[in-house]
Amino acid sequence: MLAMSFRGPQRVRVQQKPMPEIKHPEDAIVRVTRSCICGSDLHLYNGNVPDTRVGMTFGHEFIGEVVEIGSEVTKLKVGDMVIVPFNVACGRCHFCKQGMFGNCHEANPEATAVGGFFGYAHIGGGYDGGQAEYARVPYANVSPTVIPEGMDPDDAVLLTDVVPTGYQAAEMAGIQPGDTVVVFGAGPVGIMAARCAWLFGAGRVIVLDEYDYRLEFVKNYAKCEAYNFKKDMEDVAMFIKKQTDWMGADCCIDAVGAEAAGNAVQTITGRKLLLQGGSATAMHWAINSVKKGGIISVVGVYGPTDNLIPLGNFMNKGLTMRGNQTSVKRLLPRLIEHVQNGTLNPKGIITHRIPLEEAAEGYRLFSDKLDNIIKPVLIPPSAR
Ligand SMILES: [Zn+2]
Ligand SMILES: [Zn+2]
Repeated sequence: MLAMSFRGPQRVRVQQKPMPEIKHPEDAIVRVTRSCICGSDLHLYNGNVPDTRVGMTFGHEFIGEVVEIGSEVTKLKVGDMVIVPFNVACGRCHFCKQGMFGNCHEANPEATAVGGFFGYAHIGGGYDGGQAEYARVPYANVSPTVIPEGMDPDDAVLLTDVVPTGYQAAEMAGIQPGDTVVVFGAGPVGIMAARCAWLFGAGRVIVLDEYDYRLEFVKNYAKCEAYNFKKDMEDVAMFIKKQTDWMGADCCIDAVGAEAAGNAVQTITGRKLLLQGGSATAMHWAINSVKKGGIISVVGVYGPTDNLIPLGNFMNKGLTMRGNQTSVKRLLPRLIEHVQNGTLNPKGIITHRIPLEEAAEGYRLFSDKLDNIIKPVLIPPSAR
C-alpha cells in the first residue's frame, strides 16, 4: 500500500509499505478515505519531537472504512465508515475510566504523561498513522465512532482532532459569561478554539498570529478580533492590557506550542539548539497577558523536557494553568450534534485537498505557510 514515510527533518515521501495486519483480537484495519496534516505533524516534520524514527507514517486525523476486524471486535463491523479519534486508548485503565482517553495508561506503556497517538513518533507509542491507504486501529471497540448518516466526510475528519481540541481548549479555559478570551495562534486549532469560545459565553475573543492571511481567515470564520503580533504591537502583554482596561484577559489559550515565533531567545534555545522542549513564547505571553487569578489553557504541544517560562509571574499572579491532550471520545457525542445542527462548520477550514501521493508537497506548503493554506487534507487514490 501507499504510505507517507518520514525520512528525516523536512523530508517525507510516499512509498510502498506492507499492508497493516491484525496483531491483536481487538484490532481493526481501516481503509483510509481522508487524512489531514496537522500542525503538530509539523513538529515531527521539523525534527522537534524526540524519537521520531525514519520510516514512521504520520497521521492522527483520519477516517475510513472498516475492512477487517479481529475476533474480539464487537462494536464495529466490516463496511462501517468510522471517525478514528487521534488517541489510542484502551478504554479500561484508571484514566480511560474517567474519560481521560488522552492519558491512557496502557496504550503507551513507555510514557508516564501521555497516552497513545496514531502516527506520533515513538514517544506516542510508535503506532503508524493514517497518512496511508490503510491503517491498523488498536482497541477498536473503544474510540472509533461510526460516521452518522448524512455527515460530510470533510466534517467527519475534523472531528478526529481539530474540533475536539479547539473545543476542549475553550472548555479548559473556564470561560464565564462575558469573559475576554485571548487565543494565541490562528492555526486550525486556534481558529476552532476561538469559534468554540463563543459557545461557552465569551464576551470578546481576540486572536494573535504572525500571518495576515490566517488572521483574515479567523476574523471571518470565528467572528473575532485578530491582530498581528509582529505588526500591530510592540509588546504583546502590554497590548492585551491596553485592550482590557489594564486588567488583562480573563482567559488565555495557547494554541501554538513548541514552534512559536516572536522571541529570539526562545526560538534559538527551543527550536534551533533544542535546549528546551520547544520555544515557550506563546506560554510566556499567556502568563503575562492574563489577569491576576486568570486561567491559561494549553493545547499547543510542547516537548517533554523543561521550558523557560516566567514561573515567578505565574506564581505571583495566582494563575491556574490547565492543559491536556484532548479526550476525543468524551467530546464526540456533543460535537457531532453541533455539526449536525449547523452550530459548527468544521469543513469550512479545509483549504487544500491533496492526493496522498503528493503528501510531501502538502507538508511543504503547510510548514512554509504558502498558498494561504489553513488546513490540508490528503485523499488516497481509492477515495477519489
Ligand atoms: Zn492533530
Ligand atoms: Zn486506558
